[in-house]
Amino acid sequence: MTIFSGTTQKCKACKKTVYWVEQLAADNVVYHKTCFRCYHCRGTLKLSNYSSLEGVLYCKPQFDQLLKMTGSLEKSFEGTRSRSGHLR
Ligand SMILES: [Zn+2]
Ligand SMILES: [Zn+2]
Repeated sequence: MTIFSGTTQKCKACKKTVYWVEQLAADNVVYHKTCFRCYHCRGTLKLSNYSSLEGVLYCKPQFDQLLKMTGSLEKSFEGTRSRSGHLR
């Protein structure tokens, strides 16, 4: 009888079991490959091209917008060029 070491992991997005063949780990959090997508626009994300905020995944452009809206983290992005859009 074979015993697999390794715990059963649950997808952070859908809370279902993730098998290693379909798993994708980002920041020690496990997702299904198919669940690793932008919360806002549903676009597929890559490990090299995603941002997460409080456990929610966003694509880079979306995350950028979010930062502008909240403004709280903007300071850590000094050096960004002219801001487009309007502020209220
Ligand atoms: Zn999932
Ligand atoms: Zn997006």
